[in-house]
Amino acid sequence: MQKNKVLVAGAGGFIGHHLVSYLKKKGYWVRGVDIKRPEFEPSAADDFQLLDLRELSNCGQACKGINEVYQLAADMGGIGYITANHGVIFRNNALINLHMLEAARLNKVSNYLFTSSACIYPMYLQKDPKVKQLKEEDAYPADSEPGYGWEKLFTELACEYYQQDYNLKTHIVRFHNIFGPLGTYEGGREKAPAAICRKIAKARDVDEIEVWGDGKQTRSYCYIDDCVEGLFKLMLSDYSKPINLGQDRLISVDALVDMVADIAGKKITKRHDTSKPQGVRGRNADITLMKNVLGWSPQVSLEEGLRRTYEWIKSQV
Ligand code: NAD
Repeated sequence: MQKNKVLVAGAGGFIGHHLVSYLKKKGYWVRGVDIKRPEFEPSAADDFQLLDLRELSNCGQACKGINEVYQLAADMGGIGYITANHGVIFRNNALINLHMLEAARLNKVSNYLFTSSACIYPMYLQKDPKVKQLKEEDAYPADSEPGYGWEKLFTELACEYYQQDYNLKTHIVRFHNIFGPLGTYEGGREKAPAAICRKIAKARDVDEIEVWGDGKQTRSYCYIDDCVEGLFKLMLSDYSKPINLGQDRLISVDALVDMVADIAGKKITKRHDTSKPQGVRGRNADITLMKNVLGWSPQVSLEEGLRRTYEWIKSQV
């Protein structure tokens, strides 16, 4: 039987690039679209098009002849970038997402997956480092992260409305801090695990590194191989409501630094810079729904994921 033709929008980015490789190994015909090519190795896509998906006509070209769309394209970055660019991020991502949904409808796409974020969860639930795990229904009453988070919530609703009004089968995943090799590790758009790996890879055997915030802020982290597998399983499912995808092991930024220092075999002390943005105080995922719906949970431990990521970043710097 011929497999579906798949579009990965955002295929030049970190998760999109890994997803293209994963889908190719599964035997799919894959089109990748992005405004840039993957940074660190060529894409495995059968067809890779450089298109600005803020334009409806480009979204139409991207969706032509496609059965399944994974929509990952977004203007995003680490906490520094997201905090400083609310308007630009909201406008760019809203344009991409509305136009991609409309192009998918016009091209009679059968399955559409949108990548949302833990940033949609209310700020008022994330004021304590010992935060309670966020369940999907905690999203309302909403108080999302300014700019980036509100746009994701807005697009979650757009997906639900398109499913109701036009019968477009949609899936909505809320990622919780995905990390791994072949991701941005410098330049201001990198996330905490990549930034910490870079700083420690560049440090001497006994050294000090700068850590944003007081180091007590907490998060949970999910390795990239688990992320793409979860995405694939969700696409195959009939589940259409928002669902968390991530890990539920809470760890402070300071402890993350210690873990990477151990992996590197270096003695690292921390210089905290509390003038830098650090996001919410604590954020953890409740992954019960994911386990129930997908019959699966992430397999790679934080230590193992960080080891692979550190080795790759070390080889780059
Ligand atoms: P990324 O920045 O590496 O990838 C996003 C890609 O979208 C980039 O390659 C970028 O060039 C592309 N893009 C931006 N504007 C575009 C445009 N106008 N037209 C076409 N392409 C455009 O980010 P990622 O980590 O791979 O994230 C993928 C998706 O998952 C994003 O939607 C992001 O918001 C979401 N997400 C990621 C995380 C995470 O931890 N990485 C967490 C929550 C949500």
